[in-house]
Order: sequence, then structure tokens, then C-alpha cells
Amino acid sequence: METKQFKAESKRLLDMMINSIYTHREIFLRELISNASDAIDKIYYKALTDDSLSFDKDNYYIKIIADKENRTLRLIDTGIGMTKEELENNLGTIAKSGSLAFKSENELKDGYDIIGQFGVGFYSAFMVADVVTVISKALGSNEAYKWESQGAEGYTIVPCEKETVGTDIILKIKDNSEEENYDEYLEEYRLKAIIKKYSDFIRYPIKMDVSKS
Ligand code: ADP
Ligand code: MG
Repeated sequence: METKQFKAESKRLLDMMINSIYTHREIFLRELISNASDAIDKIYYKALTDDSLSFDKDNYYIKIIADKENRTLRLIDTGIGMTKEELENNLGTIAKSGSLAFKSENELKDGYDIIGQFGVGFYSAFMVADVVTVISKALGSNEAYKWESQGAEGYTIVPCEKETVGTDIILKIKDNSEEENYDEYLEEYRLKAIIKKYSDFIRYPIKMDVSKS
């Protein structure tokens, strides 16, 4: 008997995901920080086995820059980066695990856990951003690429300039609506509180830079 793969319509899956985790919007930061930390781990483990690489802890960190004027939140990491192919494969497949369909109603309501479990962590950025830009340069590569998406409609990838290995993720924070306030994700005290709540255990320094205006 042949077992067939479920097909998922990515636009609807993404919409559903974004809506089901509605009440825990702040966790997007945990997901992006955990990806950045994973990327630094990868470069660290590579350095352990590759003599041509050294790992100087001071050079590895995560930096968060909030720019209120331009409504952007930027996460910079000095991790292993992504090649063009990796940008496609890693950021172009939503919820690779098909098990979402089997989750019980209650588990679905508590969107909190779904995200991390199903490898859709990155997409949680769309809960607070209407455009997500990823600029990345992979270890051992001379080229950098820019991945950009407005969510469900798809994404583009173009070559770009980036001097250092690692990944920058730029979120264009949504405008406030009558129901929702997104300004808080550009506020230093709020970002610090979210980091303290979910990312306190991260092994690498998290630096923060928030514009005053
Ligand atoms: P997961 O972390 O569970 O694999 P995510 O949706 O959070 O799922 O991320 C998908 C993939 O995208 C990661 O596994 C990783 O390969 C890649 N990725 C995401 N963010 C980064 C980053 N900052 N640096 C390098 N790779 C990244
Ligand atoms: Mg992740």
C-alpha cells in the first residue's frame, strides 16, 4: 500500500498559523533569537573540527536594532549564514512536518507550542511584520543574498552586498490598527522584557540598540 503525502496550501497554512497564534504574538522574538543562536552554534561546532576556523567568543553575538522612525526591527547574527539554496530550502518551505493536521483542537488553540514544534518558527515574524527581509552570507561563500517576503504571496531572492558572514533579519513592523498596537515591538523596555521572559538562557550576548525618536 502506498502512503501518500498530504498537500498543504501554503497561503492558507500561513494565514491559519498567524491567526491561531494571535494571543502570543510576542513569541516571534523568541523564535528569531533561537534561530540566530542555532546559527552561531553551527559555526561554533564547525570551528571545533576545522582547524582553519577559530572561534573567538567575543565575535559571536546577536544584535537587535529597533528603528522607530522607519518602523523596522533588525536582528543581526554572526552565525553560519545561508547560501542562496539554503534561503530557498529553509525559508521557502512552510511547516515541513505534515503533523499539524493531527493536532487536537486544544493543542491548536494553544498556538504557543505549535510554532516551535513544526519548524514554522521563522514565519511567526509575519505576526508583527508585513515585510520580512533576510540578508545572509554563508560561511565560505563570497556571495550574499537577500530573501524578501510579504507573507503568503511568496518571496524573492536577489544577490546583494554583505561584508561579514551571518544573517540580518529586518522586520517592517505593522502599522497600528484599531484593534492592535504594534508600536510596543519597537520599544526597548518591551523588547527587553520579552527577551528576559523567553530567551534568558541563550548562550550568546544579545545586544540592543534602540533609536530614541
Ligand atoms: P527550525 O528552527 O525549527 O528549523 P525555523 O522556521 O525557525 O525552523 O527556521 C527554519 C530554518 O531556517 C532553520 O532550520 C535554519 O536552517 C534556517 N534559519 C532561520 N534563521 C536562520 C539564521 N538566523 N541563520 C541561519 N539559518 C537560519
Ligand atoms: Mg527555529
